[in-house]
Amino acid sequence: MTHQITLIPGDGIGPEVVEAARRVLEATGVKFKWDILQAGAKAIETQGTPLPPNILESIRKNHVALKGPVTTPVGTGFRSVNVALRQQLELYACLRPCKTYPGVPTPYQKVDIVIVRENTEDLYAGIEFERHQNTELVKLLRKNNEKVRDDAGYSIKMISETASRRIIKFAFQYARANGRKKVTAVHKANIMKFSDGIFLEIARDIASHFSDIEFDDRIVDNLSMQLVRRPDQFDILVAPNLYGDIISDLCAGLIGGLGLAPGANIGEGAAIFEPSHGSAPKYTGQNKANPMAEMLSGMLMLRHLGELQAAERLEKAIAAVIADGKDLTYDLKPAGATAASTSRVADAVIERLV
Ligand code: NAD
Repeated sequence: MTHQITLIPGDGIGPEVVEAARRVLEATGVKFKWDILQAGAKAIETQGTPLPPNILESIRKNHVALKGPVTTPVGTGFRSVNVALRQQLELYACLRPCKTYPGVPTPYQKVDIVIVRENTEDLYAGIEFERHQNTELVKLLRKNNEKVRDDAGYSIKMISETASRRIIKFAFQYARANGRKKVTAVHKANIMKFSDGIFLEIARDIASHFSDIEFDDRIVDNLSMQLVRRPDQFDILVAPNLYGDIISDLCAGLIGGLGLAPGANIGEGAAIFEPSHGSAPKYTGQNKANPMAEMLSGMLMLRHLGELQAAERLEKAIAAVIADGKDLTYDLKPAGATAASTSRVADAVIERLV
């Protein structure tokens, strides 16, 4: 069977890491037909918009995309191509596995955490009011709360029962399907009782229907401290959008950096696989960036496509290159040591695959 996939090389280091990922995916023997499309700064140059309509059409048709990072242009209509894609395709679940592979230079050798981040609401929903604008809103707020200042800007934190139920259910179902033992809900419900309070209440309710999966919860500041002290006590973390975003970078730091942190954005009808990192513009065209986060995102895509053996072989090949320690990019080498190029890392993974 040939899988039809939308391929978005992206900006900055995107085209280099995506090319490396495409090569290793093809070396697994799985057959792909790539629908290659531009988004971001390149698309603005050629098509006058960072998110041309053919991208959404292609993903809606293929249901699966592999994407490189996209630079978010400042001062255009879109807040972010990534946020727009997630909202328009209703990719409500952001999956970010963080795992240490033996040989990675980090003091944390036993991390194996999956972050499940809600992708559609919270402070990222874009419900914002500029300072000195929307005085009606200020008046209304003032009426109910004398602490409201009229020279403040406002970002509204929206946590709904619907979105909380959907993401928490996803986390428990993912746990069950992937042999995971525990789900921890992340919140600050002690302070934000009407928003995070909903998230915690729904988490407790859903947990009661999954008696085979252990459940607990952590207040986000305490969780951050415990992640640094003893990350091995955590399995799956389910979090609203903002905490999920911050925690996934913290966890990427534990496992050796952004160059090793893959991700997926998943909805009912489509899924986009992309690394957690951005387009690192200063390294554009230098064949220097670590392609492993993009490759591991490709590995998650193989799992999603049901190509489980190929996914396992690819992950093992990447792990073997890391354990060997020779063909690694600068971010996984001691300062001053000779580092491998992006394309050399791909060659090394392919050598282990074939
Ligand atoms: P970034 O992740 O691009 O870079 C931060 C630093 O991390 C880099 O300077 C580099 O040292 C390191 N790094 C990142 N990826 C690496 C890799 N593969 N190998 C080695 N080192 C790596 O974050 P930023 O500088 O804040 O953002 C740059 C641009 O990327 C912005 O326009 C931002 O909006 C965009 N961005 C896009 C996405 C996405 O498309 N999903 C995600 C985050 C940021």
